[in-house]
Amino acid sequence: MATFLFDEIIFGPVRSRRLGASLGVNLLPTKSKVCSFDCIYCECGWTNSADSKKLPTRDEVREHMQARLVKMKFDADNLDVITFAGNGEPTLHPSFAGIIDDTIELRDEYFPDARIAVLSNSTMLHKSKVVNALLKVDQNILKLDSGIDSTIQLLNQPHASITVDKIVENLHQFKGNFILQTMFLRGTYKGKTMDNTTDIEVKKWLSIVKELMPKEIMVYTIARDTPVETLIKVPLADLEAIADQARSLGILVQVSG
Ligand code: SF4
Repeated sequence: MATFLFDEIIFGPVRSRRLGASLGVNLLPTKSKVCSFDCIYCECGWTNSADSKKLPTRDEVREHMQARLVKMKFDADNLDVITFAGNGEPTLHPSFAGIIDDTIELRDEYFPDARIAVLSNSTMLHKSKVVNALLKVDQNILKLDSGIDSTIQLLNQPHASITVDKIVENLHQFKGNFILQTMFLRGTYKGKTMDNTTDIEVKKWLSIVKELMPKEIMVYTIARDTPVETLIKVPLADLEAIADQARSLGILVQVSG
C-alpha cells in the first residue's frame, strides 16, 4: 500500500488530528526509516536494515528548524506544537538530548506559546539521557500497544528482546508524567488474528494503565495506508468504550477514530 517517508528534516506545519497545527521534526534519514520496531501499521512502511542510515546532525537540525521558525513568524503562521516524529524512532538519534535543548531555546525565542511533543515507541528509556530529555518537553507521548508480549511481537515486531515488563519498568521512571499512546486495530497478519481490543487485551492494558497512571492517554486506530493490507480500523464506539474504562480511573483520554 502507499506508505510514505518524510523527505525533509523539518516538515509542515500540518494539521495533526491529535496535536493541532504541528511543525514536524524528522531526526531520521529522509530516504529510509530507522526504528527499533517494525510495526505492521507503520505509515512509513517497513523498517529496512539495508537502507542508508545517515542521520541529520544536531547543527543541521538546528539550522533547518531556525530557518523554518523565522519564516513562519514572518508569515504570521499559527503554530501549536513542534512535533518529533518522522521516519522512525526519534530517540535513536545520538544527539537527541542536545536537539531537545536546542528546540526549547528556539521555541522560547520564536513561538513561546507552542508546545514541544515527542512521539516515541518507548524502547530507548533505559538511557537516562533520553528520559531526562523527554521530561523536559511538554508532551512526551510514549507507545505501549498491548500488555501482552505475543501481541507486541506480532504488532510491533521489536528488533531486540523488548518485553512488556521491561517497557513498563522503564515507564515507571516518569512517575505518571507522560502521555500513553496506544494503537488499537484488528485484522490478520502471517496467518494470525490480530485484535488488541479483546476483553483479555483491554483488561491487561488497563491493569498497566492503573499501575502507571499516565497524565493522559491517546487512543487511536489506523487512519492511513499501512504496509499490511489485512488490517482494519477499530470503530469509534469501540475506542470510546475502551477509553471510558481508563477515564473511570480519573485519567484524561483523547480518542482519534
Ligand atoms: S514505532 Fe512508529 S516509526 Fe517505528 S515502526 Fe512503529 S509506527 Fe513506525
